[in-house]
Amino acid sequence: VPEGNLVRRLAGDLRRDLGGRVVEASSPQGRFAAGAALLSGTRVVRTDAHGKHLFVGFAPPGAPARRADHWLHVHLGLYGKFTLGSGEPPEPWGALRLRLVTDDGAAADDGGEDGDGAGAGLRWADLRGPTACDVLTPHGVDLVRARLGPDPLRRDGDPAVFVQRVQASRATVAALLMHQDVLAGVGNIYRAEVLFRARLHPYTAGRDVPAPVLMAVWEDLRVLMRAGVRAGRIVTTAPADRGGQRGREGAHYVYRRAGLPCRVCGTPVATAELEGRNLFWCPRCQAPAG
Ligand SMILES: [Zn+2]
Repeated sequence: VPEGNLVRRLAGDLRRDLGGRVVEASSPQGRFAAGAALLSGTRVVRTDAHGKHLFVGFAPPGAPARRADHWLHVHLGLYGKFTLGSGEPPEPWGALRLRLVTDDGAAADDGGEDGDGAGAGLRWADLRGPTACDVLTPHGVDLVRARLGPDPLRRDGDPAVFVQRVQASRATVAALLMHQDVLAGVGNIYRAEVLFRARLHPYTAGRDVPAPVLMAVWEDLRVLMRAGVRAGRIVTTAPADRGGQRGREGAHYVYRRAGLPCRVCGTPVATAELEGRNLFWCPRCQAPAG
C-alpha cells in the first residue's frame, strides 16, 4: 500500500506533467464515464495530497488560473496505480478506470501561473484499480479532509491535534499511528520504523505516551516522509546501522525483519498481527516503559 510519501510524490508528478494544461478525460473501462465527462475539456490547475488521498483540481479553460471548481479525488488503496507517460498513449488495456491526455499544444494557453507545467508535447496519465475515484466540489474536498488527521507532509499539519488524539485514546500507539483520523499518511512501514526510532513499545496505550515523545515522533515523521517523497521509497536507517547492506535490504530497522537480529542490539525482531496488519519491533530496544 502506498504511504503518504508516494501519494505526495504522485501529486508532484501530475503537476509537472499536466499542470496548466487542458486534458481529455475518458474511462475506457466505463466505471468512471460520468466523472470523466465532467472533467474532459477542462484544465488542471492544482494538485494536492492529504495523507493517502490525492486531489487534482480542474477549472474551465478560460477561468482564473489557480481556482479549481471540480476536484478529482483518488485513493489508491491496495491495488490502485497511476501510470504516467509522454507521447501517444498506448492502446487501453485492463480495467482502465481513468485516462487523462493533454490536448496537443495546449501548454501555450497556460496563463503563465503554472510555471511548473511540462511545456509542449503530449502527456497522459492512466489510473487503474483505485479504491476511490470520484469528482468532488471544493466543499466535498473539505468534507473528505475534515475526516483526516494532520499530515506531517502538509504545511497546515498541526502536531497538537495528533498529540491530543493519541492521548485521548486507550488503544495502542501502534494502532493509533495507522488510524487516518489520528495521523494521515502513515502506513505499515513508517509505523514500525518510527516506533523503533523512538524506542517506544508498540503496545503502549496512547494515553500513556508523553506529549514530548509524540512531538518527537511527529518531527521524525516529517523528516523521514520528506526524504521519502524525494527518493520515492522509504529509508529509515542511518548508514552506520546498515551493516554493509545496500538498497532495500538495508533500508529498515524492523519492518519485515522478523527473526533477524536487531541492527542496534542483536535481539531477534518480533512480529505480531494488529488490526489485520503485521507489526514489527525489537523486544529489547522497545521494552515496555516502567
Ligand atoms: Zn534492539
